[in-house]
Amino acid sequence: MNTRWRQFKKLVPAEDFYECYYENKPQLCPVCRGKLEESSYYEEYHGCVEENRHCKGCGYARYWSYGSTLLEVGSLSISYSYSTPDKEVSLIEDTFAREIVKERNRRKMEIRKYYRKRG
Ligand SMILES: [Zn+2]
Repeated sequence: MNTRWRQFKKLVPAEDFYECYYENKPQLCPVCRGKLEESSYYEEYHGCVEENRHCKGCGYARYWSYGSTLLEVGSLSISYSYSTPDKEVSLIEDTFAREIVKERNRRKMEIRKYYRKRG
């Protein structure tokens, strides 16, 4: 918890604070559990038009911009847009989810290898 949150905690009732804190806490990378860099961009008339999350540690990324989604993990990079049929979108999301698991396991193996080498 950083200073900003600590200050905020003093100002609001406990229940309100925790509700707000857990809703806004930084999202963790599904691959390496690192903190995700988040940015979003709002336009006056359209509301939220861009939302990007990416991990510096392993290259996991989910970009959303004007209805187009770009997903990146490991060597995989796929995208779809608002006009992509639902069926295809769920296929792409499934592929992405599977790749996240694969990448997570690959990283675990690498870490294990690294320690084994050093004895
Ligand atoms: Zn990561």
